[in-house]
Amino acid sequence: IIRRIRILKQATEAISSGNLEYQLPPGRSSGFDMIDESFNNMAKSLKDRDDRLQKAFQRITRTERLASLGQMAAGVAHEINNPLGGILLYSNLVLEEMGDDHPGRKNMEKIIYQTDRCKKIVSGLLHFARQNKVALRPTDLRELVDRVMKTMHTPASITVRVEHGTADAVADIDPDQIVQVLTNLITNAQAAMPEGGTLTVRTDGDDTHVRLIVTDTGVGIPKENLPKLFEPFFTTKQIGKGTGLGLAVTYGIVKMHRGDIQVQSNADPAAGPTGTTFTVSLPRRGQAA
Ligand code: ADP
Ligand code: MG
Repeated sequence: IIRRIRILKQATEAISSGNLEYQLPPGRSSGFDMIDESFNNMAKSLKDRDDRLQKAFQRITRTERLASLGQMAAGVAHEINNPLGGILLYSNLVLEEMGDDHPGRKNMEKIIYQTDRCKKIVSGLLHFARQNKVALRPTDLRELVDRVMKTMHTPASITVRVEHGTADAVADIDPDQIVQVLTNLITNAQAAMPEGGTLTVRTDGDDTHVRLIVTDTGVGIPKENLPKLFEPFFTTKQIGKGTGLGLAVTYGIVKMHRGDIQVQSNADPAAGPTGTTFTVSLPRRGQAA
């Protein structure tokens, strides 16, 4: 009996030292089958709980990091917004005063164009920081998707599928902003399939939520990039090609709707078909944040 208890004691020590994977090996079992089994079950459920805690912790850290980034972004954006407005106003005034053949005209137009770009970036940051308001109204998500799909230009190498999985896709949303969410997700999906592939846009829903699901069969997202995906200015695209604001803005809009956005992706061909799915979940009854 002492020998058997020793085996159990060793196992207990393994678990308390943090080795939650530890299971009593069948060959060396203590001889009390019932106790062995419940011991192993206990170890397993400890491990499960530990995994869930770890995941929750990671999620909270991510949310907190995005929130503090948002605060900083909003601060900077607010400060920059006014002077940019001033530059635009005065450069437009100067341009108006210039004759059509004025030698400085071209340069002035460039200044205005670039300042406009800055304004867009700043407005993207304000979106990310949820400093913009949503104008909620009952909207049929299926109609919204159909409308966006008509206006999107997709290369011929990409097969487009639209699937409506629910009869009732009406929710209180800000249609203009959800159009922006969808456009951002589709633009990214297309960029991930330079060699072609399939783009699937799905609507879905249950009693309390509607969902927008965008799937591509593209290159996928490496694991190490997943935590940074929604941060402003995170991009893997060439300078000038991507701003890294698309998903940050998308995240901000979804959060303003009190919704949720999830990503699933595989970038490793050895681990099965590559590709990415973004799932946006929005509450049916809107409560503007
Ligand atoms: P941008 O498109 O300007 O780079 P985003 O915020 O829209 O900025 O996206 C950030 C990065 O996330 C992209 O540069 C890309 O690396 C990755 N990404 C986003 N969507 C996808 C997708 N569907 N497939 C693969 N990578 C993606
Ligand atoms: Mg993008």
